[in-house]
Amino acid sequence: MLRYDPIMQLEFFGAAGEVTGSCHIVRAGGRQLLLDCGMIQGGADAPARNRRAFPFAPGSIDAVVLSHAHIDHCGRLPLLVARGFRGPIYTNPACADLLPILLRDAAELAVREAERANRGVSRDDQRVTALFEPADVDAVMRQVRAVAYDAPFEPLPGITVRVREAGHILGSSSIEMWIEEADGYDAHGGVTRRKLVFSGDLGQYDTPILHDPFAFATADLVLMESTYGDRLHRGREDTTRELGAVLAQAARDGGNVVVPAFAIGRSQELLYLLAQHYGEWHLARWKVFLDSPMAIAASRVYWQHPDRFDAEATQLRASFRGMPPLPNLVLTETADQSRAINHVRGGALIIAGSGMANGGRVLHHLRHNLERPECHVVIVGFQAPGTLGRQLVDRVPEVFIHGRRLRVAAQVHTLGGLSAHGDQEQLLRWYDNFKDRPPVYLVHGEPRAAEALAGKLRERGTTATVSRPGLQIDLAGLPALAHDTPT
Ligand SMILES: [Zn+2]
Repeated sequence: MLRYDPIMQLEFFGAAGEVTGSCHIVRAGGRQLLLDCGMIQGGADAPARNRRAFPFAPGSIDAVVLSHAHIDHCGRLPLLVARGFRGPIYTNPACADLLPILLRDAAELAVREAERANRGVSRDDQRVTALFEPADVDAVMRQVRAVAYDAPFEPLPGITVRVREAGHILGSSSIEMWIEEADGYDAHGGVTRRKLVFSGDLGQYDTPILHDPFAFATADLVLMESTYGDRLHRGREDTTRELGAVLAQAARDGGNVVVPAFAIGRSQELLYLLAQHYGEWHLARWKVFLDSPMAIAASRVYWQHPDRFDAEATQLRASFRGMPPLPNLVLTETADQSRAINHVRGGALIIAGSGMANGGRVLHHLRHNLERPECHVVIVGFQAPGTLGRQLVDRVPEVFIHGRRLRVAAQVHTLGGLSAHGDQEQLLRWYDNFKDRPPVYLVHGEPRAAEALAGKLRERGTTATVSRPGLQIDLAGLPALAHDTPT
């Protein structure tokens, strides 16, 4: 007799119909496993939505498999643990090293935000608490289990997982999952098996530093990101040339260059590009500031995982004994060092977070440089609606930073080719590795991007659906296409 209703199901919660807040749930064998547990970012209601109860009981989740360390994939783990989740959190070793850096930064940000909100509030019942605190991150880290790339493991009985390279940031993975249910689906008491592939966030092919995304051949169901499902990036060579041209123009203009960049991924790639083109771009005339304790810490982690580097990066690494290979790089860890940059009027190339300019040190740099026409802002990553970064991309004439109205006079450049996400063509290239055109559910994209990618997939004869929160898929009801087993 079964102790539970046989069910083999996938349900979408977050990052369905939007880009942030990745969180999906797999049910099988009477157990529940979460794929990612991300924070919602951008939009005025994001803080309230992040605080809201999970649409499931955290204590009822048996395990988490985490694709990568970006906050929109892992940022609600501290809440999940604080609210009762006691199971293991599986991820690859590089992600396990990056995770505490990102989560502690988010915790410190949350504490500062709460302090700011409580200024002048005297009544205890009107004070807000931080979304989570550094101690909550320590609790998460005690539950993290690092699992090697490419080696199958069993997070739960009946579920086998293998993490594969996603080429998005260091320690990013796509997740290959075999799910077995010995249940009432089969009248003869047999076992039903289905294979799910979750893309995670997919990087561009031929990205500097990282390997290309892993090419999967089989799946019964594909859960796929669609961030840039409606767009084509400029080629990498064009983009690199464009960055060189921006720097040359900025040098002529005599101002500063501000680059809001994610501490993990974009910052390291930018440093890598600058090192590669140091002579060609006359970078000796610039002072390059990596103004982010988190990016500095993450850069060190990058350097500790050379097994995740591609051949070119391995070669560059070999020719420099230390990290990072830029003679004019200034690492500013303390707040005082960061503030000192505010006095630099020209010749500073400032890489600072947050990547969408919705918080962090980059706000101070934008405040000091946005109104100056001789300054340049270079946008290198995805900007969610509602963020300051998105406003800059959309060329709004005025923005507000720390309550101050600023007229945007600096020149804003958007370099899509440096994105950590593959574009439409690259997403299709990734999908085209599958035999038998398995059905696809699209996540992690704004509706327009997801619909555009779905259209392209349908042209190929694939059943493609744009997911929405609360949508449930009966996995056993899907035709079995993949007959491979983890080896
Ligand atoms: Zn990501």
